[in-house]
Amino acid sequence: MALNLQFSAEDEAFRAEVRSFLEQHLDDDLKEAARRQTSVFADKDVAMRWQLILHKEKGWAAPSWPEEFGGPGWGPTRRYIFNEECAKAGAPGVIPLGLRMLAPVLFKYGTPEQQAYYLPRMLNGEHYWCQGYSEPGSGSDLSSLKTTAVKDGDDYIVNGTKIWTTHAHFADHIFCLVRTDTDAKPQAGISFLLIDMNTPGITIQPIITIAGDHEVNQVFFDNVRVPQSNRVGPENEGWTAAKYLLEFERGGGGAAARLKVALDELKSLARKVDDSGEALIDDPAFHGRISQLEIGIHALEFNELRTLSKMADGGSPGPESSLAKNTGVDLEQTLNTLKLEAIAWYGVPHHNLMRLQDNNAPTVGPARFEPINGRYINSRAASVFGGSREVQKNIIAKTVLGL
Ligand SMILES: Cc1cc2nc3c(=O)[nH]c(=O)nc-3n(C[C@H](O)[C@H](O)[C@H](O)COP(=O)(O)OP(=O)(O)OC[C@H]3O[C@@H](n4cnc5c(N)ncnc54)[C@H](O)[C@@H]3O)c2cc1C
Repeated sequence: MALNLQFSAEDEAFRAEVRSFLEQHLDDDLKEAARRQTSVFADKDVAMRWQLILHKEKGWAAPSWPEEFGGPGWGPTRRYIFNEECAKAGAPGVIPLGLRMLAPVLFKYGTPEQQAYYLPRMLNGEHYWCQGYSEPGSGSDLSSLKTTAVKDGDDYIVNGTKIWTTHAHFADHIFCLVRTDTDAKPQAGISFLLIDMNTPGITIQPIITIAGDHEVNQVFFDNVRVPQSNRVGPENEGWTAAKYLLEFERGGGGAAARLKVALDELKSLARKVDDSGEALIDDPAFHGRISQLEIGIHALEFNELRTLSKMADGGSPGPESSLAKNTGVDLEQTLNTLKLEAIAWYGVPHHNLMRLQDNNAPTVGPARFEPINGRYINSRAASVFGGSREVQKNIIAKTVLGL
């Protein structure tokens, strides 16, 4: 069947509605914050301000949610258009940990009570989630996790530690994988728990990255009491929900739209003529690398569209999400490398990282160069979080290629 790439008149009308909404509501402060962002996620205050505008003005905070749970119930085309317009307008992203990662798990495995309590609070920003999967020694080999949850009356008592927990210092809730059966096979003894971060016994230690960001943390659980009613799915069967969530973490779609905008920025940097009257874009080798990148971004976009249409029929991203993750990360890292090369010595880390921490710090070069170094450094982590590049390759080999 031929692929029809024409948008219908209704789709174009929807695009116009999104554009006009963005013109009205995406203010300069939000755009500036998004422009300066070097981390994976926008800062909490920025992301939440944007989420609340989307939610209150239009009910657009969670484009992939079905109407029955308070989402707009959009099909893949609308989600694609919305995402593309937000990227073009320079909007910050909303934080996906609750809205895009936990929510699909609750749709599928949550009880009606869990859905009724957690989902509206996720949408209106009352709850802010973080992800408690990884532990020291249990990252790629996640099923070896050791944090325990032992039954005590109607509760579990949780002990152990989670690491690399993004935004735990902002979060008031954490979804956690815990071991509820220490005798079973590793995957068989795991349960999926929702934990209020204000429960006594939880402490958070910051981890500062090489880019100077405080984004990740280590979280400690010392006899933390959690009601059994906070378990998602049956006891000892949390691994199924855990893997389902990872499909959304790895390949929920939408990377290509932002990469296309960043590619335009790269081209504009490369077109700049230097003192000798030459521009980097005229260098055939550099030009070739940009062209290769552009082809890759287009290919990713078509794969994302395929995933979106699969999800529109009620499916999940599937194991192909590992392919999407690796491709998106490779392109992002290449793009950030080329940008860093394009600004040459303006990428000297110290000045521009200082400026990101302190608005009054002296900067070197134009403002648009500032985040480039931080982004380059930060994007190295993208081939580690959400499952490392090698782990995704193993999944592709086994599940997609059947090797
Ligand atoms: C910025 C950032 C944010 C993160 N946020 C979160 C979060 O919010 N919540 C959370 O739970 N976790 C988070 N993580 C953790 C992340 O999921 C883990 O770092 C990742 O799964 C890798 O685990 P590890 O760090 O223990 O490395 P390891 O598993 O020890 O891997 C070390 C190296 O060995 C390779 N390797 C391991 N096993 C295999 C194999 N079988 N075959 C081939 N190669 C292999 C890996 O590819 C890697 O190169 C975050 C990580 C980063 C960097």
